[in-house]
Amino acid sequence: MLRIKINGIVQGVGFRPFIYNLAKSLDLRGFILNSSEGVLIEVCGSASGLSAFLHRLPREVPPAAVIESLTYEDLPDKPYRDFEIRPSLSAEGITSISPDLAVCPDCITEMFDPDDHRYLYPFINCTNCGPRFSIIESVPYDRPATSMHSFPLCSYCAAEYSAPANRRFHAQPVACPECGPRLTLLDKNFIPVNAEPIAETHRLLKENKILGIKGISGFHLACLAFSDLAIAELRRRKHRPDKPFAVMCREEDLNDIVIYSAEDLQLLRSPAAPILILPAKNNILSSLTAPDNPTLGVFLPYAPLHYLLLTDDIRFLIMTSGNYTDEPVAREERELEGLCDFYLTHNRPIVNRSDDSVIRSAAGTNIFIRRSRGYVPHPLKVAGKLVPTFAAGASMKLTFALAQNYSVYLSPYISNGETKAVTEFYREIYERYCQWFKISPELAACDLQPDFFTTHFAESLSLPLMRIQHHQAHLAAVIAEHNISEPVLGIAYDGTGYGTDAAIWGGEIMLADKGDFQRLFHLQYLPLPGGDAAIRHPDRIAFAYLKTLNLDTDLVTTLSPYEKQILEKQIDRKLNTFPTSSLGRLFDCISALLGVCYNVTFEGQSAMALEYACRTDDITHFKPYSFSISNDIIELKPLLTEILQDISSGKDVSFIASRFHRTVLEFTLQALISARHRTGILKVVLAGGVMQNALLLSGIRQLLRKNNFTVYLAEKIPPNDGSIALGQLMIANYRYKG
Ligand code: ZN
Ligand code: ZN
Ligand code: FE
Repeated sequence: MLRIKINGIVQGVGFRPFIYNLAKSLDLRGFILNSSEGVLIEVCGSASGLSAFLHRLPREVPPAAVIESLTYEDLPDKPYRDFEIRPSLSAEGITSISPDLAVCPDCITEMFDPDDHRYLYPFINCTNCGPRFSIIESVPYDRPATSMHSFPLCSYCAAEYSAPANRRFHAQPVACPECGPRLTLLDKNFIPVNAEPIAETHRLLKENKILGIKGISGFHLACLAFSDLAIAELRRRKHRPDKPFAVMCREEDLNDIVIYSAEDLQLLRSPAAPILILPAKNNILSSLTAPDNPTLGVFLPYAPLHYLLLTDDIRFLIMTSGNYTDEPVAREERELEGLCDFYLTHNRPIVNRSDDSVIRSAAGTNIFIRRSRGYVPHPLKVAGKLVPTFAAGASMKLTFALAQNYSVYLSPYISNGETKAVTEFYREIYERYCQWFKISPELAACDLQPDFFTTHFAESLSLPLMRIQHHQAHLAAVIAEHNISEPVLGIAYDGTGYGTDAAIWGGEIMLADKGDFQRLFHLQYLPLPGGDAAIRHPDRIAFAYLKTLNLDTDLVTTLSPYEKQILEKQIDRKLNTFPTSSLGRLFDCISALLGVCYNVTFEGQSAMALEYACRTDDITHFKPYSFSISNDIIELKPLLTEILQDISSGKDVSFIASRFHRTVLEFTLQALISARHRTGILKVVLAGGVMQNALLLSGIRQLLRKNNFTVYLAEKIPPNDGSIALGQLMIANYRYKG
C-alpha cells in the first residue's frame, strides 16, 4: 500500500475526482481526502497498478492544479474494498482557498455545443474552472458558504455534483440555465432593457457604446477597441487621458495585435489568465488604446461570458477595470453610475473583488506589475516559521500581507488611492483573511511614513508594531521569495519611499540581510519642490535639479518665467521641498528635458515614456555619460551637464535616452564593484518600482552577471509596492524573534 501526501494548489481544482478516476482506472482501492496538511491518499492494488499510479499522477493533474511537494511511503496493505473520496479533515486545519480559475476548454466546448444542456450558458464551470476566491463568504469552502447559496441545484446539476467520476463532482459553483445565475442588461438608469442581453450587447458595442460588464471578480468597462469615438469618450468619463487600456481578444486574433512567444501564450492561457503586456504590432486598433506606447496589455477571455461577447465582428474589446480612478474595482453596477451607457450584469454576487493581474513579458522574464485575480489568495511559502503577523503595505498599489507558520497571504490589489471605499475594502479583506486562514496576528508591521492610511490601520490593531524602511522592505520581499539566508547587496531603485533621515529615498544600494540594512550608496540628494505634486510635473523637477546644480535652466521650456521664479523661491526657502535620492525622480527630470513627458497623468508615465524613447532592446553598447561617486554618493552634475550638451547639439532623443539608461547601469556596476570589495558579497537583489523598466532590468542583470555577480529578481511577486507588505512582514518577524 502507498500513503501519498501532496501539497500545492490541490484543493478546489478538481484534484479529488482526478485521483478517483485514475485510481479506479488502475483498479486500485483506498481513499483520498483533503486535510490541513494537503491531500492525503492511500492506495492498495497490484504492483504494476501502483507504479502506474505514481507515474501518471504528477503528469496528468488537472490544469489548475500545481503540485509543490509529493511524498510517499510504502506500508502494509489495508483491507480497502473500493476507492472513495472521504470528507475533509479540516476541523482545526486551514482550508486552502483556490484563486478564481479561467473557464476550461471542456466547458467552452460544451457551451458552444447546441446539444449540450448548458448551450450558450455564460455561467458554465466545473471542478477545473470557474469562480472560487470571488464567491467565498466563509470557510470551509462549500456551496452554502459561497454566493451560490441562493441558487439551489436542479436535479440535472445535483446528479453531476454528486457523481464522483463526473467533472462537476463537488464543483461548488456548478449551475445551469435552469438553476443558476442569469444575465440582465440595464440602461444607464439601471432600468432593465427588454431584449436578449448578449445580442443587444453586441449591437450596442457596435454603436460605440460603453458598457459596464460584470465578470468574475469585478466589473469591466468595455467598448470597441477599433473605435476612436468610444475610447475618447471612455477616457473623458474616466478622467484617464493617457494610461493604456487592456484589450481582450480570442486566441486566434492575438497575432494581429501583439508579438508573443510560446511561453507568453501559455501564460495567457493559464488558469490565472493575466493581462500580459507585450510588444504591440503596427496597430490595427485605435491609437487611443495605448497612446504613444509600443506595448499593449492583452488578455484572453477567461469567463464564459467573455467568449460570448467576442465574435467575428467584435474581435477586440477594451476591457479596463470598472472603477472610478483611485476607487476599488466595482462589484455592483451602481458603483459605476455615470461611467456607462449600459450595464451587462448578473445576479451572482461578487463577494471578494480582485482586479485583473498584470504581467509584463520582456527581457526574457515576466515582471509582475499587479498580482491579484488568479493568484490570490494562494500563499507564498517561506523557509522559516513565522509568528502570526500582519503587514500593512505602503500607499501605492495597496496590498497587505498576513502570515502564519510558513505561509504568507498577500491581499488582492486594493487600489492606488485612499478613499473611503478603499479603506473599507482593505478592512473587509483583512477580516476575511484572518477568519479564513485562522490568523490572529501577534505582530504588526508598517511603513516608516507616519501619514499613510496603512500606517494608521496597523497602529489601530494595538499589537507590537515594527516600522520598516520602504526600500529595506522592497529588498526583503525578493530575499524572501528566493529564501536567501545570508547578507546580500541590494539595489532598490524606486519612486518614493520615506528614509530614516526623513528624506525621500529611491536610488539606494544597500547591504541587506533578513533583519537589517546598511545604506552603502545612494543618488545625490536634490530638491523635490512641492512634494507629491511635483511628481505630476516632471518639468518642475528638471528645473529644481538644474537650478540646484547651477546648470542652465533655459532648456526647461515648458515653464513660464513666472513659474520658474516661484519654484526658485520655493527651493531657496525649502518651502514644502524635500531632498530626494529617488531614481524615479531622475527619470522624471530627464523625461522633461527630452520633451518625452511634461505632464504625468498616471503613476510611472514619465519613466515609461523615457524607456520607450530609447527605441531599442539593448542599451549596453551605448557610451555612458560621466558621473562621479564620492563619499558613497552618486553625483549627478556631470551626467546632467553632458545631457544638456547633447540636447543643445541636437542629438537624437532616442540616443540621449539610451545613453542615460546606460549611465544608470554603469554607476550601478561601479558602486557594486566597490561594495563587493568592502563586503566580499556576490549576491545582488534587484527591487523597486524602477525594475518594471525592462531595459534597465535586463541591462543591469546582463552587466552584473558578466562581472560575476549572482542576480535575484522579483519573479512571483511585483518588484513595485505590491510586494512591500511581504518585505515588511519578513523583517518584522525576524526582529521580533531576534
Ligand atoms: Zn470547466
Ligand atoms: Zn442546474
Ligand atoms: Fe516603492
